[in-house]
Amino acid sequence: MLHVNHLYKSYHTGSATYEVLKDVNLTVEKGEFVAVMGPSGSGKTTLLNCISCFIPHDSGEILLNGTPLGNLDEARLAQVRSKKLGFVFQDFCLLDGLTVFENICIPKIILHSPYKPMEAKAQNLMELFDITDIADKYPAEISGGQKQRTAVARALMNHPDLILAGNLVGRSGAAVIGAFREAKEKLDATIFMVTHDSFSASHCDRVLLMRDGQVQKELKRQGSRREFMDILLDELKQLNERM
Ligand code: ADP
Ligand code: MG
Repeated sequence: MLHVNHLYKSYHTGSATYEVLKDVNLTVEKGEFVAVMGPSGSGKTTLLNCISCFIPHDSGEILLNGTPLGNLDEARLAQVRSKKLGFVFQDFCLLDGLTVFENICIPKIILHSPYKPMEAKAQNLMELFDITDIADKYPAEISGGQKQRTAVARALMNHPDLILAGNLVGRSGAAVIGAFREAKEKLDATIFMVTHDSFSASHCDRVLLMRDGQVQKELKRQGSRREFMDILLDELKQLNERM
């Protein structure tokens, strides 16, 4: 599904070069829910932005079902973004002037998809995430949790190969995690999420720990969520101590 091979990325400020990603390697399988954690400055957001095709990388490759992302021309990039990837980021970017139903339909409207199948798809997703009764409400009229579920429904609208999620901190995390689990279990969705929150990460199948621009360790969930969270907290503590 997603393969990141020998990924390097540096930032240039004036004459200074700052290496952020230094040989990142990772794989995410179809239907997997994977989190990336690590100390501040370890390169998590940069990695997410590279995979999201928001910023170019220096070398290495990012393959989505064998198709290289990166160095795509504008047209191909727009296609990958709208058809292959789904995004759920902080503050959820719901449009205030559109209803929940209309917000969920945005990805299909952008592609000029026909109305009937679009409506049916949106109905299915709204049922899955239990937001059917707020279909005609505006973002200002719904709860934080409902906004999160609306954002996840919208991200799934075009059957993306991969959902990318980031900066879902604190309160904004909880309902999103529930929605991601639903998406994984009911729709076989694949989710790649950057988080600071061990509770959120403990719902994942696997957690990649980043440190100093590399994936330092992978932890696969075994046993209960509670046990996994304890392991994560312990590993993060050790990672921070070694900084
Ligand atoms: P994390 O998300 O793990 O905290 P980031 O990927 O945001 O890490 O940042 C990694 C490092 O790269 C940090 O030291 C940060 O200051 C630096 N950095 C991030 N974005 C830029 C940028 N646009 N220009 C220069 N340096 C940056
Ligand atoms: Mg960050």
